Amino acid sequence: MREVAVVGGGAAGMMAALSAARCGAKVTLVERNAKLGRKIYITGKGRCNCTNDCTRDEFLDEVPRNPRFLYSALHGLMPQDMMALLTELGCPVKVERGRRVFPVSDKASDVTRALERELRRLGVTILLNTRVTKLLTENGAVIGVKAENGESFPADAVILCTGGVSYPATGSTGDGYRMAEETSHTLVQPKPSLSAFDTADEWPERLQGLTLKNVRLTLKEGHRLRYEEQGELLFTHFGISGPLVLEMSCHLEGDPQDAKVSLCMKPAMSPELIEMRVQEVLREQNRRTIANAMHAFLPSRMADLYPDIVGVDGTRQCAQVTREERIRLMDGLHSLPLRLSRFRPIEEAIVTRGGVSTRCVNASNMASTKVKGLYFAGELLDVDAHTGGYNLHIAWSTGQLAGQSAAMGL
Ligand SMILES: Cc1cc2nc3c(=O)[nH]c(=O)nc-3n(C[C@H](O)[C@H](O)[C@H](O)COP(=O)(O)OP(=O)(O)OC[C@H]3O[C@@H](n4cnc5c(N)ncnc54)[C@H](O)[C@@H]3O)c2cc1C
Repeated sequence: MREVAVVGGGAAGMMAALSAARCGAKVTLVERNAKLGRKIYITGKGRCNCTNDCTRDEFLDEVPRNPRFLYSALHGLMPQDMMALLTELGCPVKVERGRRVFPVSDKASDVTRALERELRRLGVTILLNTRVTKLLTENGAVIGVKAENGESFPADAVILCTGGVSYPATGSTGDGYRMAEETSHTLVQPKPSLSAFDTADEWPERLQGLTLKNVRLTLKEGHRLRYEEQGELLFTHFGISGPLVLEMSCHLEGDPQDAKVSLCMKPAMSPELIEMRVQEVLREQNRRTIANAMHAFLPSRMADLYPDIVGVDGTRQCAQVTREERIRLMDGLHSLPLRLSRFRPIEEAIVTRGGVSTRCVNASNMASTKVKGLYFAGELLDVDAHTGGYNLHIAWSTGQLAGQSAAMGL
């Protein structure tokens, strides 16, 4: 019987252990925390958006980097297969807006419990509070792993599933990166993804707590349009966040300081229509202040600040607005520049972009191309996706493929 050691008991590791055990291997799952799946508990605001009920092509469209790497993994485990598996294991699921899938109970803990129950039923040895620090190799092949306490675990195959470096309190602190690099694998520089931003402008901070709905966010790098979507944006004490901003962060390739980001407050109106409406409002409200008139276009907290943001004295009467000021007021509604300074720290990012290069991993079985018997799965790999359940599904599907391959020596 082949002995498989799985390092990391998160989504990818639990799935890898489960599928290796189902394929008949003797499996040991080694987790540094006192319990399995700590990150799963905080996913989907505690409800765990565990996958997305979409087709393969729709799935791949949500993966900005290396989508082709996922073909085989998805072929083996489509979102619908995962939904069926969770249901079979006693955690029925439901589909919500955007085809996001959640457990019916709305409890992320039910997902972890269902998987852990199955691991125990299959006889997987689960070692908690055990941090793996070294991969043991001999003649270019893996022969086991060594833990921080000095204990060694021999194995015919090892699956590294240690995650990225975001939310390190959940256990993902980059140990897998170090072990992969020590065994000659290339690391793509880890960076934040699904991340908020600090802004160089100080005005977003003055609007902290305000959510803008149905605004359009545009990101350009040089002349390249990287991202343009409509949705929800949140101003915070450091800058900007919210669904639109997190998604935009996946598409930013260079330095945030060089990016051109703009906000359209009225995406349903053409610039010409905005111009007409601004002229009308300024005319109709000619005795009121400019800031007051802006309430016709913006939520009140933003309306009060808006003239200041575009460099117009909002305390003056509308009747006194110059042509140049009117243009500034109109342009800002259509395309308000937002200067970014940096990503929020990687520890706060929802996922880590980068990691073990997909060039060092065979996409058909998740095996290392450098060390025989070594496999990778989950966020540790240089693949990441948008929000919507795709990141967890990447962990489940690469975990399943790695588990099967390791068990069968593929
Ligand atoms: C706040 C938040 C919300 C999220 N919500 C969603 C969501 O709703 N839907 C979605 O699809 N994605 C979501 N994600 C992303 C998703 O959680 C991750 O992409 C996914 O959990 C990655 O799984 P993984 O198993 O690869 O890594 P991890 O879940 O990070 O698991 C890695 C495991 O390895 C263990 N480990 C690390 N080093 C060692 C070592 N040396 N020895 C032993 N064990 C070790 C860790 O303790 C950890 O348990 C969210 C992420 C965050 C932070």
